[in-house]
Amino acid sequence: MTDPAAEIVDLPREAPAPSAARWAEKPEAPSPAETRARRRFGEGALIVCDNLVKIYKVADLEVVALQGLDLLVNAGEMIAIVGASGSGKSTLLSILGGLDTPSAGRATVAGHDLTQMGRRERTRYRRRTIGFVWQQTARNLLPYLSAVENVEMPMVLNGHGDRHRALELLGMVGLRDRADHRPERLSGGEQQRVAIAVALANQPEVLLADEPTGELDTATSAEVFDLMRHVNTEVGTTVVVVTHDPLVSEQVQRTVAIRDGRTSSETLRRSSLSEEGEHSWIAEEFAVLDRAGRLQLPRAHVEALGLEGRVRVHLEPDHISIWPDLHERTDDDR
Ligand code: ADP
Ligand code: MG
Repeated sequence: MTDPAAEIVDLPREAPAPSAARWAEKPEAPSPAETRARRRFGEGALIVCDNLVKIYKVADLEVVALQGLDLLVNAGEMIAIVGASGSGKSTLLSILGGLDTPSAGRATVAGHDLTQMGRRERTRYRRRTIGFVWQQTARNLLPYLSAVENVEMPMVLNGHGDRHRALELLGMVGLRDRADHRPERLSGGEQQRVAIAVALANQPEVLLADEPTGELDTATSAEVFDLMRHVNTEVGTTVVVVTHDPLVSEQVQRTVAIRDGRTSSETLRRSSLSEEGEHSWIAEEFAVLDRAGRLQLPRAHVEALGLEGRVRVHLEPDHISIWPDLHERTDDDR
């Protein structure tokens, strides 16, 4: 048997950067790069996706939905995942939800190794560790049960139905007075709010939502999204929400953009206080460097300079610059 620790420790593969000399003043302190390398990737994070690959086989074709995706989410965070249609968002969420298994790579959520789970652990994981809300309102609720019965069902499946708690949860989502209504008598937004109560029934650590407001109008979306934020801040549930809606993605502290099955950029937002004492949000977009040193340059940057194939990469004292390869290509170069 291989030592699992040996596989996940990320050993430095390259010589230290020239600027490492700056740290030489304090010889006993390890450089940040050394500290990072020594720690397990994602140590301490609630959700760890390490080089995730998902390949779907359809007849003779292989579709690579995720190609080496890295993602870390800390306990208590709320993040939005954005990306074009087909970029792999739903694939990622169904892996995190224990509904699908990756073809390669590592995914752990709250200590559960999603690549190694057997059937029993998987069922337990889906019932207790995560709650899932789908875009299609009809997919979240059982049509022949009332709202309160829907919320109680996950507890019943876990062996202890609790009508009182189900009513409390309906109260939290603002629908206590709709407890006896079946889904068909609830609006789309109300159904999604009940769905959030259902997802929270067994006190999961993580709430996963795949475009939960995709079928709702703007005002109703805002209500559902406010509810998810409430769940995050008041209940403390970690929330990962896939969305197309800029209203949603602009209100979380971290938005992760996925492109072609990889994390391509992250936008971090923090509030800042102006000299006049006014609060404003500052958003900053970062490209994401993976541990092999790969980076997806923003498409607009690549197109603006006509970058293609070979580029020049220069190390400067505190940054790296990239130039197009300007000299005429000859056949010898290829
Ligand atoms: P998104 O949610 O970002 O729109 P998906 O994760 O649904 O993207 O899909 C990513 C890629 O994987 C797409 O090319 C899609 O066609 C393909 N795909 C998704 N699910 C399946 C499946 N069950 N079988 C085959 N291909 C799939
Ligand atoms: Mg999708």
